[in-house]
Amino acid sequence: MARGANSFLMQMTDCIFCKIVAGEIPATIVYRNEHVTAFQDLNPKAPTHILVIPNQHLASVNEIVDDASALAAGECLRAAREIAQQNNLGSYRIVTNTGADAGQSVFHLHFHLLAGRRMAWPPG
Ligand code: 5GP
Ligand code: ZN
Repeated sequence: MARGANSFLMQMTDCIFCKIVAGEIPATIVYRNEHVTAFQDLNPKAPTHILVIPNQHLASVNEIVDDASALAAGECLRAAREIAQQNNLGSYRIVTNTGADAGQSVFHLHFHLLAGRRMAWPPG
């Protein structure tokens, strides 16, 4: 099956973030445009913890392979910057875990936007 068709099937079935984009499960949405949806993380790891995701289903950074997916990922970063500015975040961290060993648990590309406390480096 072509990758695009597989992604489409995934989107239609069991991806929780696709369901949030479609309004099928609730989330506290803080930003939305034609490319991007951003919402509060259910289990926040910082005083501000927002997930910025492409409306199009991409499983991870590994699926940023063409102009459409690169646009979707870039729009996520632009939205994160706008959210940070609108909320006067000052310092903030953007994280995207790629693969289970890196901590990815939801396989729809997402950028964690974290702020409101001092961040340690390196991450655990
Ligand atoms: P990952 O572990 O893949 O980098 O990040 C997934 C994030 O999604 C986690 O921070 C987790 O708390 C969040 N999350 C998982 N399920 C839901 C959900 O149904 N709603 C919301 N708002 N966040 C979720
Ligand atoms: Zn999805």
